[in-house]
Amino acid sequence: MITQGVQITGRCSGCGGPTICDVGQFFHRGRLRWGSEGRCENCSDGWCEEDIGPVTPEHIRQALLQPHGPSRLRLSGEVPSPVPVLKALRDAGDGLSLGEARARASELAAGGLVGTLVEMEVLAVRLRARAVPVTVEPAGGSAVAAPTPHGPTAQAPDPPSYAP
Ligand SMILES: [Zn+2]
Repeated sequence: MITQGVQITGRCSGCGGPTICDVGQFFHRGRLRWGSEGRCENCSDGWCEEDIGPVTPEHIRQALLQPHGPSRLRLSGEVPSPVPVLKALRDAGDGLSLGEARARASELAAGGLVGTLVEMEVLAVRLRARAVPVTVEPAGGSAVAAPTPHGPTAQAPDPPSYAP
């Protein structure tokens, strides 16, 4: 199973004591799921929220991205046709329109897709199942992957050189 998790400490809404919350994303039975389970160290309060689907709440994603860093999915070989890529992307993202799938496919071809490890690994599984060669690597810390801090400098047109 592909999984990534993190423990977050917080404060209990019941007694104010310290809480430990396990949040994570995992790939189970062909679906991307996210889950969050917490407990209070002081009282018997506990909670658990769990859901399934391609859209993980942003606070869960950020909780995972902060300690682990983002991952990048890139093509590792020639893709003879865009069709299997589009099909795999639409399989992975429920309700992804053809236009959205096309946009993601060109992002993948250009510089790669970036997301949490589990999100990228799930896409990789779908793409490999359709014979599309891909790799997943850490997106941070690479000089090649870092965006350039400055763009091309604007070129001022030459001043007219005619004499009066
Ligand atoms: Zn408590």
